[in-house]
Amino acid sequence: MKITHIPQTLWYEDENGNKLNWSPDFTKGYNHPKKARYQVSQFPNVLRTTYLRLNDDGTSTEIFCGNASYPQDLVLAMANSKDFTLNEAILITANCCEKCMNSLAHMYGLSWGYPEYGEEWKKTGTSCEYCEAEVPLWKKLINRTLAFINNFRSIHFPPKIKKAQLPISLNRYETLEGLLEGINNAAK
Ligand SMILES: [Zn+2]
Repeated sequence: MKITHIPQTLWYEDENGNKLNWSPDFTKGYNHPKKARYQVSQFPNVLRTTYLRLNDDGTSTEIFCGNASYPQDLVLAMANSKDFTLNEAILITANCCEKCMNSLAHMYGLSWGYPEYGEEWKKTGTSCEYCEAEVPLWKKLINRTLAFINNFRSIHFPPKIKKAQLPISLNRYETLEGLLEGINNAAK
């Protein structure tokens, strides 16, 4: 065999399934050829995750399906390092959060990304099972408690209510919140 061309990732077809000449011009926003009836796409860097509900009769029903993409250069660098197989590198990069993806890119010597625990890393407010794994348990508990308090407060006490009008019980929450935040800040 001879590989004469690389298949396209996206193209348009008319009513009869004939491929239409089209070259993307993203400067003009979304556009497609006039006679287009079908848009066909096949992106190689997509990891598909499906949730099936298992039924009592032995069958299953798909209830959710999601796609995540991953950067080709990072996956290649991770696989070439022999730290991971290609499949493992895909699974990791497609599932990790933005700051973990960037710290991996930095770790594997790519031109993009930023170091773990650096300024940019701290500013990126994402989290996933990889960076969460490094957060000590006590800090997780504090963060969860703070989230609970904020949630509780936003439900029961709309922001327009002045502090003076609030029942005494909220003062306890304020105190607890202040204490937790103090501990959290001291540990940073
Ligand atoms: Zn992460």
